[in-house]
Formats: sequence, C-alpha cells, structure tokens
Amino acid sequence: MVVAPSGAGKSSLVRALLDRDPSIILSISCTTRQPRPGEADGREYRFVTTEAFTQLRQAEALLEWAEVHGNFYGTPRDRIDAATAAGQDVLLEIDWQGARQVKQRYPQAIGIFILPPSIEELAARLKARGQDDAAVIERRLLAAGGEIAHAPECEYVIINQEFSVALSELGQVISAARLRFASQAARNAPLFAQLGIPAAH
Ligand code: 5GP
Repeated sequence: MVVAPSGAGKSSLVRALLDRDPSIILSISCTTRQPRPGEADGREYRFVTTEAFTQLRQAEALLEWAEVHGNFYGTPRDRIDAATAAGQDVLLEIDWQGARQVKQRYPQAIGIFILPPSIEELAARLKARGQDDAAVIERRLLAAGGEIAHAPECEYVIINQEFSVALSELGQVISAARLRFASQAARNAPLFAQLGIPAAH
C-alpha cells in the first residue's frame, strides 16, 4: 500500500514502478470525485455516482472505503482477493484510513509512506499541477498535515526529493517484500515441502 498526502508524487512514482515491473497489479479504486483533465474512467479510477458508491458499500464489494477531501474512495474487493489468492503482488494507492482497514483484512500488507522533501515543496507541487482550483489546493494542504501524522503506521518511508532515487527505493521495498518468508513459501511451495520447512507460526 502506498500512502501519501496529495502532491507528494505518489501517482507518478507508482506509474513509473508499474512501467518497470508489469507483474505488479494496480488496484483501480472507485471514487465519487470528478475526473481531472486527462483522467479516464477505468484507468486512474472508476468514477461513480454517490448512489453507485453506496450500493457497492452495501453489497460489501469494497475491501475498504473512506471519505477523503469531501469525496468517497474505495478499493473493489474482487480484484484484490483474486490476485492475492493467485500469489500476485497488488499495489494500492490509498489514504491512511483505507490502509488501516486493509491491514485488518490482510495483516501481511505493507505500508509505504511517501513524504515530500518539505512543506514548501508540497505546496509548490500542488500549485504546479494546476488541475485543482485554489480552494481545493488549500484544503489538500491542510489535509496533508493530517495524512502525514499517520506516517508512523507504515513500515517504510520514502522521501521523494529526487524522483529516480525514490523510484529505486520503492523498487527495493517491493523486492524485499517478495523475499519475506510467507511470500517465498507461497511462491515456492514444492521446494519448501521438499526441504521439510515448517509453516510460519
Ligand atoms: P486524488 O483525488 O488526489 O486522486 O486522491 C485523494 C486521496 O484519496 C489520496 O490520498 C489517495 O491515496 C486516496 N485514495 C485513492 N483511492 C483510494 C481508495 O480506494 N481508498 C482510500 N481509502 N483512499 C483512496
């Protein structure tokens, strides 16, 4: 799970990571917010009405959901369950509230928090994006402090000062996660059985 305040560069990092490693499955969230210019339904998000979102919630089709910046966001359950059952890596771009809920369902899930190098840089990046109006930017900056306060709930922290360094660090975290006992045991079950390795406690 990648968690960050808006403007920390999370989406660009995730996109670059997926280009490098297409075996990672990116969860496409549902949201009630309006698409930004350049965003396509089914690619960045599934853009849904509040009524449709409520129906998904009631049908328990969401692994987690939260209200962020006045809109609803949620992770569809079907894709995650299928991918994890098949031993595939799934990446979620979510807020701290969602990350908390995912941990309850998947305690082995790893949280990676992306920090901006400074609050000034965060403000500059939000303005440079130019996709949101001033009131929205102001709200997101205020919310950034709240999001950042939850960084201690993540196992890893990446400071996105130099994009290429942050991308490399993100790749290293994913590589390390794949080497965890449970991941290795799931991917190499015949070898572990042949070597008589007991299951993790
Ligand atoms: P944005 O509107 O800038 O794309 O996203 C706003 C915030 O919502 C970000 O912090 C993003 O990580 C979070 N978010 C996106 N999708 C989900 C989701 O499915 N669940 C939760 N809990 N948060 C999400």
